[in-house]
Amino acid sequence: MKSDVEIARAAQLRPIAEIAKTLGIAEEHIEPYGRYKAKLTPEALAGAEKNGKLILVTAINPTPAGEGKTTTSVGLADALHQQGKKTVVALREPSLGPCFGMKGGAAGGGYAQVVPMEDINLHFTGDFHAITTAHNLLAALIDNHIFQGNALDLDVNRIVWKRVLDINDRALRHVVTGLGGRVHGIPRESGFDITVASEMMAILCLADGLADMKRRLGRILIGWTRGGRPVHADELGATGALTLLFKDAIKPNLVQTIEGTPALIHGGPFANIAHGCSSVMGTKYALKCADYVVTEAGFGADLGAEKFFDIKCRLAGLAPDAVVIVATVRALKMNGGVPKDVLGTENLDALKKGAANLEKHIENIGKFGLPAVVAVNVFPTDTEAELSLLEELCVRLGAKCVRSEVWAKGGAGGLALADAVEEAIAKPSNFHPIYDEKKSIAEKIETIAREIYGADGADFTPEAKKQLAEMETLGMTETPVCMAKTQYSFSDNPALLGRPTGFRITVRELRASCGAGFVVALTGSVLTMPGLPKQPAAMGMDITEDGVVMGLF
Ligand code: ADP
Ligand code: MG
Repeated sequence: MKSDVEIARAAQLRPIAEIAKTLGIAEEHIEPYGRYKAKLTPEALAGAEKNGKLILVTAINPTPAGEGKTTTSVGLADALHQQGKKTVVALREPSLGPCFGMKGGAAGGGYAQVVPMEDINLHFTGDFHAITTAHNLLAALIDNHIFQGNALDLDVNRIVWKRVLDINDRALRHVVTGLGGRVHGIPRESGFDITVASEMMAILCLADGLADMKRRLGRILIGWTRGGRPVHADELGATGALTLLFKDAIKPNLVQTIEGTPALIHGGPFANIAHGCSSVMGTKYALKCADYVVTEAGFGADLGAEKFFDIKCRLAGLAPDAVVIVATVRALKMNGGVPKDVLGTENLDALKKGAANLEKHIENIGKFGLPAVVAVNVFPTDTEAELSLLEELCVRLGAKCVRSEVWAKGGAGGLALADAVEEAIAKPSNFHPIYDEKKSIAEKIETIAREIYGADGADFTPEAKKQLAEMETLGMTETPVCMAKTQYSFSDNPALLGRPTGFRITVRELRASCGAGFVVALTGSVLTMPGLPKQPAAMGMDITEDGVVMGLF
């Protein structure tokens, strides 16, 4: 089997203007970044009435390696494209952190990839650079404001705006800035998050244009005064400069799959402290020029799909038409209690046990009023006995289930899935969020915990209770809630696999993302700056003298 980068390199790419043309986008509405990437200008959409079908790809609770949501999204789009349907796959931009860390690239895998994968996985069109720069400009302005006399009376112990970098670097989680003496600033404790965890990333992904972007950037909470008043970015007088840095980043990026299906890749917020889906602008753009839009939400459906529905779709006024739940034999075996290092061995009992996890995810999608299709992402290690058992279990659960072999075969391996999705779309759907945003924050979290996680309820630490009151001061009570939780369990304990019952979740902190427009509820231990593993993926990467990239998985 060839590596991902080898398969991608062998693909015959079409010039990006040709791909745009298949969507009816004229050459004057694309801004090429080289031959195979382009930004799309918003003017292209003026007056477009069309609204395609929106298909969400989500998953069961995964193994650390990922169960193939991106791969399935790309392959499903290729299959629909092969069937002659005008299709776009709308994805997140990969972060450099995990790319050099554990996971490698995030542009799909095998024969279901978006290309040029080297570019998409590395600097792409510079959107992350823009976010990193704007984020750090705001941080520099805050420190400068304090240094220059602190007219706002900011409390240096209550600055909530940190710095960001798109690299996994645990040594930067906690830092002291401003050391070196009087002329080098006021010393204070701060830290770094990874760029994808920046609130500006979430803002980029929820804004509907530059004006909205500016409004949201100005609303960012930067800290509190010594008198306890919240201070927002606007008060530093630089909202214009921050917005300016997004003048190109705000435009969705057009690329293609290795089969020539158009792909819109834009934004990539963290799926824990942010909502984990690609930009609203990219999705809306795709819906205006395609009949079918396949998109992915990060992590398992308990986090990703819930936030896609309750945050992105609610705020953007989108109504999805169907949901694909990606399941793998290996992750179900893990949910059935098998240790990670022996997931390649056949184990029918564990599979049966672990299927309870899938069952709960299927029920949950139904709670949002949407039809679901289970896509079994077939791995080379799966046995026929395991695959048939999983199909049988799905029949018992009353769920439509199909095998997907897009990783091995590209779109041709996803034709059955495409048919099943088509059937699901034809069914009547009645999409609705799971909670009323007007309810109190505690009630909204309680609803998610009970309905989606299957918990007995949610508890708040004394610290979190204090912050509930702060949310009132900030006027952030009637907004959606963004749950930050482990992706490995329905609960807030990563060790509780399968379909746990008889547990409660504990909210230990609430953070206001006033610009993005949601309140983040943190449970368990959630890291916003990952570290590198003992054997980082970076150690297997190289480039030859003549520019051939190796080791990007
Ligand atoms: P997710 O989006 O759910 O995190 P990805 O689609 O990125 O998952 O896939 C995770 C990893 O698994 C990638 O390296 C991908 O190439 C690999 N992968 C996905 N599907 C398969 C499959 N059917 N067989 C083998 N490897 C796969
Ligand atoms: Mg993915």
